[in-house]
Amino acid sequence: MSPHSAPSDDEAPGLYLHVPFCASKCGYCGFYSQPTAGRDMHRLVTALLTEVRRHHATPAVRTIYIGGGSPTSLPVDLLARLVETVASAWPDAREFTVECNPGQAGVEMLSVLARCGVNRLSFGVQSFHAGELELLGRRHSVDDALRSVRQAQDLGFANVGIDLIFAVPGSTLDSWQQCLESALSLGIQHISAYSLSFEPGTPLYEARRLGRIDSVEEDTDRAMYELAIDLLAAAGLAQYEISNFAREGFECRHNMGCWENRPYIGIGPSAASYWLGERTANVADIDAYIRRIEAGLTATEQRQQPNHDDCICETAVLNLRTRRGVDPADFQRRTGADFRKVFAASLHRHERDGLVETQAGRIRLARRALAVADSVLCDFSSL
Ligand code: SF4
Repeated sequence: MSPHSAPSDDEAPGLYLHVPFCASKCGYCGFYSQPTAGRDMHRLVTALLTEVRRHHATPAVRTIYIGGGSPTSLPVDLLARLVETVASAWPDAREFTVECNPGQAGVEMLSVLARCGVNRLSFGVQSFHAGELELLGRRHSVDDALRSVRQAQDLGFANVGIDLIFAVPGSTLDSWQQCLESALSLGIQHISAYSLSFEPGTPLYEARRLGRIDSVEEDTDRAMYELAIDLLAAAGLAQYEISNFAREGFECRHNMGCWENRPYIGIGPSAASYWLGERTANVADIDAYIRRIEAGLTATEQRQQPNHDDCICETAVLNLRTRRGVDPADFQRRTGADFRKVFAASLHRHERDGLVETQAGRIRLARRALAVADSVLCDFSSL
């Protein structure tokens, strides 16, 4: 690879497909999705498949990830069409993930996913406390979550993950520990754990602004994060990225590709791509997306060509999110830059303050930097 090109031209991409529907909108959600009611899901899926077919010429895809929104808010037959088409276009993808909502993905749907070659499921569980699920505006119950995960395991899925949210208003360190223990009792392979963020424009943001709910104290939020790192590690789920934990060999390959700054192709409304040296984003509007695809046009609305400096910084920030950190030789190979040289000032400051460390030749965030990762990473975001 030319040291001055974006590191995306010669590598097999990951494929992300965005299903922009949800049964209803959760109170904290800032993702692009629309309630299913009154929507022509058939037409959207046909448009998605058209966009998929435009990429058929891409010979190799490393990983496939169908997310949303809620892919499982589609009727079984439509989800099956989508999954079958993608699976048959790229039968050699090593990992095929579908995001599932507990309560939506029943035995019939899960069986279809298994039959089509999906080998990884990610359930949006979020909490094992009924009150928290209610506050978050989730439609499923704790029993739905337990049942869905167990059904998937009974059907033979050997790579199952769940998402959890901590620092939900009213939660305590003890209630979060119970939540983690419930998750571990399921014998799953992967957990993503995120602190609740209050996205402007969401009902939870408004409720906090009006004083109806309070954020969890910052110290408690941090203690919850630290607890997750320790408790999950003790149970065999090592932290491999700021918010992600997995049993050995079950790290999400698709997301690892993104953190390694490898290329990916995004399909569907609002989906982002990093492909052929360009960062692009599809139009974030279901109707506009369908109109464009049906008219034979591209759904791309935004385009940006990262320059060499952008490429260096993006690779640095993304690599530093992982616990493997930056391998200077790999960094040089991929970007043409000497990591230690280009970030000398930031590295000096953060190493002096114990926020960045070198382990087995790799440069990574120190444990104490993880909870304040964004403030450290921003020093690697520009040259
Ligand atoms: S299910 Fe997920 S994508 Fe859909 S509204 Fe809830 S948080 Fe957002």
